[in-house]
Amino acid sequence: MRGWLTVCYRSNRQFANVIVDISVEKLDKTFQYRIPEELKNRIEPGVQVDIPFGNRTITGYVVEVTGEPEYDVTKIKPVIGIHKGSVPIESQLISLAGWMRKNYGSTMNQALKTVLPVRKSTKQVEKKQIRLKMSEAEARNKLALFEAKHYTARARLLRELLGEHELDYTFVTKQLNISVSTIRGMEEQGILVVETSRHYRNPISHLSQTDRKHPLNESQSRVVETITADIKAGICKTYLLQGVTGSGKTEVYMELIARTLEKNRQAIVLIPEIALTYQTVMRFYNRFGDKVSIMNSRLSPGERYDQFERAKAGDIAIMIGPRSALFTPFSRLGLIIIDEEHENSYKSETAPRYHARDVAVMRAKMNNASVVLGSATPSVDSYYQAMQGNYTLLKMTERVEHKPLPQCEIIDMRQELKRGNRSIFSLRLQELMEDRLSKHQQIMLFLNRRGISGFISCRSCGNVLQCPHCDVSLSQHEGGRMVCHYCGYEEPLPKVCPSCGSPFLGAFKAGTQKIEQMVKKRFPGARVMRMDYDTTRTKDSYEKILKTFANQEADILIGTQMIVKGHDFPNVTLVGVLAADMSLHVPDFHAAERTFQLLTQAVGRAGRGREEGYAVIQTYDPEHFAVQTAKDQDYEAFYRQEIMYRTMLSYPPVWNLLLVQCQGEKEDEVALAAEKMSQFLKMQIAVIEKSVMLVGPADASIAKISDVYRKVIYMKTKEYGTLVALKDKMEHVVKDDGAFSNVSVQYDFNPTSGF
Ligand code: ADP
Ligand code: ZN
Ligand code: ZN
Repeated sequence: MRGWLTVCYRSNRQFANVIVDISVEKLDKTFQYRIPEELKNRIEPGVQVDIPFGNRTITGYVVEVTGEPEYDVTKIKPVIGIHKGSVPIESQLISLAGWMRKNYGSTMNQALKTVLPVRKSTKQVEKKQIRLKMSEAEARNKLALFEAKHYTARARLLRELLGEHELDYTFVTKQLNISVSTIRGMEEQGILVVETSRHYRNPISHLSQTDRKHPLNESQSRVVETITADIKAGICKTYLLQGVTGSGKTEVYMELIARTLEKNRQAIVLIPEIALTYQTVMRFYNRFGDKVSIMNSRLSPGERYDQFERAKAGDIAIMIGPRSALFTPFSRLGLIIIDEEHENSYKSETAPRYHARDVAVMRAKMNNASVVLGSATPSVDSYYQAMQGNYTLLKMTERVEHKPLPQCEIIDMRQELKRGNRSIFSLRLQELMEDRLSKHQQIMLFLNRRGISGFISCRSCGNVLQCPHCDVSLSQHEGGRMVCHYCGYEEPLPKVCPSCGSPFLGAFKAGTQKIEQMVKKRFPGARVMRMDYDTTRTKDSYEKILKTFANQEADILIGTQMIVKGHDFPNVTLVGVLAADMSLHVPDFHAAERTFQLLTQAVGRAGRGREEGYAVIQTYDPEHFAVQTAKDQDYEAFYRQEIMYRTMLSYPPVWNLLLVQCQGEKEDEVALAAEKMSQFLKMQIAVIEKSVMLVGPADASIAKISDVYRKVIYMKTKEYGTLVALKDKMEHVVKDDGAFSNVSVQYDFNPTSGF
């Protein structure tokens, strides 16, 4: 572990705040009790206690232990005792919330709302689906009839149903513009049926035969047997499973889950929301059937509550979902899997700003469970933990069935410009695209858009304009100014490149839409699809695009990072990465890591099927180590360079970093509060005899968002616990000092983005 420091204020442990009903909305409705001397060391968040309530004795959960009385001390009644009997799962989750509050900084209420599903008092809105009720042949006859009669609305709906079999009710009324009476009419005719369901649709009718259970190959078995042997020996560890793209990690997860179920225990599988596609979900359904439940962000709080009730009742044993699925109330949890563990979405962006990885490790510890973190491109954080011996590293270095990793080639776009090619496609990429199109193979074009608003570079020499005082690139702002987000340095945008004098200077702006147009113009015969934020805004559109492409109804798929996730397209033999260096120059110390991950994952999309894959990386920065190592799919080489850089600059994971944000509506108030906090911290640091680097206060990278001013202070130090202790002290300052009455203070430990 990172040396989490448990700071206890035994002397301040006089009172317990207790909640008596955890299923209602108002978790902040707490009642305060005095802690009798003999219980002082045993009462912690999560402990179930018996308490006097009116003239009855009831049971509640301690959520907070504090030294601050909420009303007249003489009137506070004492806790009767610790409740006898088995420990309910809620105890554990509340204690986890307490741990999160402590280690990430938030109010207890925020932490509780994160871990406990809350039943909404409002009536639940149920999801309605429309399903085709007749056979396809019958439906086609009906469709022909409707078309002949010019019943356009009915024909439209039927056509959609023929493609999809099941449609969301609101999608039909809103997007397809079909009236309620039309739907009712068709229902009466027995063409369709309207169903209300709270749970994820029953997948049985969609069972596909494409994903049979594979016998594990040698490296897969080795991983499974290693973990199983540890579990048999009663050892619970965190494993980092580094398996190249297409090495069969999901099959490993499923085997581990099967063995967990055999022991009558339960499993949680975290998958990034974006990869929570039909295809992924089906693989688990095919293997485990009704024991599986899915959670996604589209569920209403009520539905989430239902899911959790089913988990508690033992109706399901496997929960798949994004970050929040981590809090599924399984009482016999045996395994937590985090797929694509390097993904940013595992870090919460609201308080408590927890990282699912660390919370998973903590929750697993409470349950005696194992954790498996899987990725082709592990986060530098996790790999570092593995190198430190805190995680156990397991590797799968080959694709299944010995399929080769794609060949990869770097194209220096500066040379292209020299040769007079000003198009966004290099000659080499055009040539390869032509070849694949003629062979009826598919192509993916990936536009790296991270940091699009970002840096300014020279298209002739690749020079990126940097702040003279900081190691970050300048960002283009309105009015032709360039600004440093770290120190505020500003200068006008030069007319020519300061390094080579070329006039081709500017922020890279081409979007996917523009690229789509250019592709269509250059390859008029090709069927082109685009996947980006604009084309995936409506529900299911994401799935639809993937499905169309998987069915080979399109030749070229253009997209942002969305397209590199999770999907297997066996007919894709060429991947082109446009603007590979886009993410290299964002002002964030993770820039190289993100770039390496994106490139490796993008390249890994090619050659999943019978034909070998090929990838082209177009860049203005061909020598950059993140680009070079991604080309070679060489994680270790990347890591060696990157960790050297992090060590040199004392960045995480080598040191820990705490970002403190002060926010408020009045600029001077925020500035004053931030200054006070910084002075206070400097005093604290002077006395603790630990080396802590403090920077700030400074404007946040976006100094004002919707009229809220933001100032930041950040601190770096070796021990995570030192930062937690400083955070605790800051919480007192915020409570006691009037300067903070209109200024909120938020904590972000080891931020993963925008820093
Ligand atoms: P990863 O998650 O590592 O990218 P997957 O688990 O998605 O890889 O596996 C890639 C493909 O290989 C999938 O289509 C999967 O069904 C198939 N596969 C996995 N394991 C085996 C195996 N042992 N033998 C044959 N095919 C396999
Ligand atoms: Zn600067
Ligand atoms: Zn230049």
